[in-house]
Amino acid sequence: MVERIPHDAPVLVIGLGRFGAATAGQLQRLDREVLGVDEDAHLVQKWSDRITHTVQADATSLEALRQLGAGEFSIAVVAIGSSVEASVLITANLVDLGVPQIWAKAVSQSHGKILSRIGANHVIYPEAEAGVRVAHLVSGRMIDFIEFDDDFAIVKMYPPKPIRGMTLAESGVRKKYGITVVGVKSPGKEFTYATAETAISDHDVIIASGKTRALDRFAALG
Ligand code: ADP
Repeated sequence: MVERIPHDAPVLVIGLGRFGAATAGQLQRLDREVLGVDEDAHLVQKWSDRITHTVQADATSLEALRQLGAGEFSIAVVAIGSSVEASVLITANLVDLGVPQIWAKAVSQSHGKILSRIGANHVIYPEAEAGVRVAHLVSGRMIDFIEFDDDFAIVKMYPPKPIRGMTLAESGVRKKYGITVVGVKSPGKEFTYATAETAISDHDVIIASGKTRALDRFAALG
């Protein structure tokens, strides 16, 4: 049975480098209780007024983690890329302590594979994922891009010229380009779900969905 974790469960964040601090800071803004752990006293001090609890500790030590009450957390984030050994050891410790949901940052595919093998439930590749997103964003008129595992994506973008000044039925986007316009936001107006009669104008922003390759081609239309 999949264990249900309350949506307001406190989160243990290990490693307060750029990634860990950004994760902890945003969780805090979402009103989550956070325990941030780093072995670097300066970083612990730096974040102490912005994160609910911060503790200086070497998290590779199972004993140190026990003392922090790490086993009581239902969600932990291992945000260490500078030492693969530490990241792997800490993740293994959290698995041993029975933390049911472990998110871990990986710096390479092999690092990620090891993390998954030892029991991390979610492996994140921040640099690689950001690089892929940026490539999509710079090569067309996309403003934002979310890809699902199966080559399907949703993008926020400025409409390419061939579909402006007419309705979606007139431009035939779905048939011609193989993508679906989900909604449109015109300046100063509310977001609306798109229908065949929706007219697209120059300053609109659209949300489109479809196969990644089709969306890339569509976004590069100019
Ligand atoms: P980023 O690229 O996101 O800045 P880093 O991998 O450079 O991430 O940062 C890792 C952080 O984790 C550093 O602040 C470091 O002090 C901390 N860290 C590394 N090893 C341990 C450990 N064994 N216990 C606790 N914190 C650690």
